[in-house]
Amino acid sequence: MDTKKLADLLIPDSDLLPPEEYENIYPERERESKAEVTRLAPSPTGFIHLGNLYSALADERAAHTTGGIFYLRIEDTDEKRKVDGAVESVIRSLNYFGINFDEGAEIDSPLNKYGPYYQRQRAKIYRAFAKRLIEQGLAYPCFCTEDELNAVREEQTAQKLITGYYGKYAKCRNLSSEQIEANVKAGKPYVIRLKSQGSNENKILFKDAIKGEVTVTENDQDVVILKSDGIPTYHFAHAIDDHFMRTTLVIRGEEWLSSLPVHIELHKVLGFKPPKYAHTCSLMKMDGGTKRKLSKRKDPELSLDYYRKSGYFPKAVVRYLMTILNSDFEEWTLKNPDADYRDFKFRIEKMGKSGALFDLDKLNDLSRTEISKLSESECYDFLKGWVDEFGTEKDKAHFKDKEYIIKVLALIMGVGGKKRRKDIERAEQGVRLIDYFFDDTFAPEYAYRFDKETVNRVLDKFAESYDPADDNSVWFSKVKAIAPLVGFASEMSEYKAHPENYKGNVSDVAEILRIAITGMPNSPDLCTIMGILGKERSLLRLNAAKI
Ligand code: GLU
Repeated sequence: MDTKKLADLLIPDSDLLPPEEYENIYPERERESKAEVTRLAPSPTGFIHLGNLYSALADERAAHTTGGIFYLRIEDTDEKRKVDGAVESVIRSLNYFGINFDEGAEIDSPLNKYGPYYQRQRAKIYRAFAKRLIEQGLAYPCFCTEDELNAVREEQTAQKLITGYYGKYAKCRNLSSEQIEANVKAGKPYVIRLKSQGSNENKILFKDAIKGEVTVTENDQDVVILKSDGIPTYHFAHAIDDHFMRTTLVIRGEEWLSSLPVHIELHKVLGFKPPKYAHTCSLMKMDGGTKRKLSKRKDPELSLDYYRKSGYFPKAVVRYLMTILNSDFEEWTLKNPDADYRDFKFRIEKMGKSGALFDLDKLNDLSRTEISKLSESECYDFLKGWVDEFGTEKDKAHFKDKEYIIKVLALIMGVGGKKRRKDIERAEQGVRLIDYFFDDTFAPEYAYRFDKETVNRVLDKFAESYDPADDNSVWFSKVKAIAPLVGFASEMSEYKAHPENYKGNVSDVAEILRIAITGMPNSPDLCTIMGILGKERSLLRLNAAKI
């Protein structure tokens, strides 16, 4: 049987286009020569992590700093790993961090001319090419069972040989047409394998856009290109997709570097010019003095949800990742403190060649700085965004009163003023800090340091004299006036000179009032807090705080 007939027997589909047709269907993109076309190509597993964001940011920056395109392709060939809603979740998560696709799966864009962007919907294209390779004698069916393959692997391992399907171990490589026909007729399942033309005695010099020149051994493995259900493997599908989606730069994790020889050969036999490849190094962290990869099991900070749920300022996360992506970003930031990170000239070749160290403390620091720069309404929007998604029902109700919240934020975080509070790194912290401004979340502890009689007298006396129209100095003079009534010194200098003569001093009076109003011994300016709460609520709190 000639290879044409063999191809018809193995892939009998009548609706396949001649492969070269796809060159017309997906023509070269019109673009400036420097413009990069990049893609994020996740499997729809539902788990999107910091490494994906890191890679997506590199993709997005590489595309958008060169006037190119960044698109989303879904690699859903493994049905078992698919999770409903995963694609929307990728888009939403990246969107939260300010990373947007120009084109691709579930993206509403006039640029969507290279789809479908789900690999499962591209089966015909892969099958057309697999069929062509069979016709060319560059691919063949393999009927080996799992057990047979395992036995070969064990033998190779015992003999300390490279494992896999190659050379004399590629049992189905030389099956006769009759044997193939008989097997197919007998209904034996088969995969389609590449008939590798390579030799592991040859070396290939390859230029990685990040790692520079890398020498790899030529592929000689007859890798599977179509699985027994007719669905392609990653190797085969990505080569075809990156070619026809006209990707110019593939940025992916360094775990793919070992498959590169296979990919180089696949592009060659398919007649494609390979895109540029950039293999990013893994995100690492310091753990008890040693560097190790961030792990899904051990490190909650690997999951992007962690940042959203605890309310990190998204731009801080992105800016932090930029510092890992390009080491001169930090210096640029110092020179351009208020500039948008998108104004920085990102360059793929400036990315680190080995393990990128992820330092949560540094990220926290950056988050605090970024939050401290927010304007009143930015701060409100940021906190409200978190509250809408993760806050309690009470938080949601509180945030309906924007005017009130902004007044509180101005005081608590110094937002809008000169003295900014710089210790808030996450929305959640900010939201909890203002709890005491609302009666339903005001949970005082009343941990007074004085006896009942003193406390109650301070509270009663102050309530009698309190007038919301008082400015700060009048307010304070009223606090001072209470001191002698409870045996406290009204002047600090007097108290310091003769502490034995007094039970306490004016600041202790203020502390009692503070505990009554805020539930805590420390707070920002109490006169302003009472002004925000208003007379009625302030008096109610002074009364309720008596012991
Ligand atoms: N689907 C692959 C993954 O999720 C994509 C690798 C690539 O970017 O080519 O790891």
